[in-house]
Amino acid sequence: MADFEIPQLNEYPIIPKIHEGVMAHSKPFLAKEEFQQQLGFPGELVDNWQQVAIDKMGELTGKYRSLAVFLDSCVKCGACTDKCHYYLGTTDPKNMPVARQDLYRKVYRRYYTFAGKYFPKLVGATDLTREVLDDWYSYFHQCSQCRRCSVFCPYGIDTAEISMAAREVMDAVGIGQKYCNEIIGKVYKIGNNLGLPEPALADTLEGLEEDIEDDTGVAVKLPLDQKGAEVLLVTPSADFFAEPHVDGLMGYAKVFHEAGISWTLSSYASEAANFGMFIGSYENMRKLSLRVREAALDLGVKRIIFGECGHAWRVAYSFLNTLAGPFDFLDPNYPVPQHILEFTYDLIQRGALTLDKSANDDMVLTFHDSCNIARASRMGPMPGGQFIIPREVIKASCNHFHDMPQDTIHDATYCCGGGGGLLTDDLMELRVKGALPRMEALKYVVENYGVTHMAAICAICKSQFTKVLPYYGFRMDSIVSVHQLVSNALVLGSKQ
Ligand code: SF4
Ligand code: SF4
Repeated sequence: MADFEIPQLNEYPIIPKIHEGVMAHSKPFLAKEEFQQQLGFPGELVDNWQQVAIDKMGELTGKYRSLAVFLDSCVKCGACTDKCHYYLGTTDPKNMPVARQDLYRKVYRRYYTFAGKYFPKLVGATDLTREVLDDWYSYFHQCSQCRRCSVFCPYGIDTAEISMAAREVMDAVGIGQKYCNEIIGKVYKIGNNLGLPEPALADTLEGLEEDIEDDTGVAVKLPLDQKGAEVLLVTPSADFFAEPHVDGLMGYAKVFHEAGISWTLSSYASEAANFGMFIGSYENMRKLSLRVREAALDLGVKRIIFGECGHAWRVAYSFLNTLAGPFDFLDPNYPVPQHILEFTYDLIQRGALTLDKSANDDMVLTFHDSCNIARASRMGPMPGGQFIIPREVIKASCNHFHDMPQDTIHDATYCCGGGGGLLTDDLMELRVKGALPRMEALKYVVENYGVTHMAAICAICKSQFTKVLPYYGFRMDSIVSVHQLVSNALVLGSKQ
């Protein structure tokens, strides 16, 4: 099944012995020249790459104060060493967060600190050599920017931000990653990660309307480019066709239908994902975000709601107003933007939806907190809303729910193993190994509570688990969308 060793699932998490360099071979494919240039990066490694990289590092520490603080403040306490799923799954010590940071820090020290310039050996500073750059390309593409390590660091050092900076430097010298950069190019050209043009999207949505009507007898609409609609829904393009994502999309449509609120998708902003964040590029993140603003203005909507996608919600929640605001043309009574779960949760709280929990009685559920939602955003007006709201919606939709062990959920959640721009087949070994801690937690609830399905609210988590679950002996369809559960339980027409 695999040309690498699949880690064994243990009853209790084990901190593994280190194996130097076992993942040094893991590198994503390089982006082709045309895709690099489309994003404003050099097509291949530039001749004076050392100088370009060093200058870029200086620019980034000047621009992002947090980056400079993170690089200067690590005291090597070791608290983060066993907190990364990629270290636990691969045993490579360079996947310990502090070691990953040091790949960048040692170069930063060499060129930007007094001690590093004059006494490099004393402070562990090194020149930026081709070997160092190769290590960067390998190990900064073994970080899913999940921020778990930062929760356990007494100084709050965020390795994700250092990984983003490293990727930005690598793009600046001409060695970008194929998966992310090609996808960003597709959004600019066509509007979504999949390269799905407007006629194909319209056709897909019509097909889904027919499916819902066949199933329920109710004509639920999935409108596209409908001017004057109340709500613009921006959702990951995987929702249009992938399983189990598409079941979630049908769930959103049913909820809008039941709430009696007009809504629309946009063919121009047909993608919630924003891979600009994964490559650490503010400019690309902004360009992608502006599409949402332009679509909202063009369609004349009053609200913007995001579908189930982890990093898209991080960008939307944390940065959308800065990147593409002000959104003063929207209805001030609603947050900008809103998450589909906030919307559904509010309807449930107000008794506006009738949910028949027994429709999900064939499943015993658990919930995987997506890292970007858990540690880089929030939901609703209460602290911890990002943990409470999805669970309350699940519990309102089904009778059987059990959480995974406490040290693997909420803000201590483990990444699925495919986040941060790593959801590509050229990194399959890393993805499978990085999923180990989550798979161990899942095994625990399967064996102790008879859990059969795991719900998620992130397109990347859903795709990653669909692929990775079978490696660990679980069924690929044991991952479900939260709005799929809502969709199953929702009794249409009961409130009209
Ligand atoms: S951000 Fe996540 S993936 Fe990156 S080093 Fe920290 S724990 Fe590992
Ligand atoms: S926990 Fe923080 S201070 Fe301690 S080694 Fe890790 S990054 Fe450095």
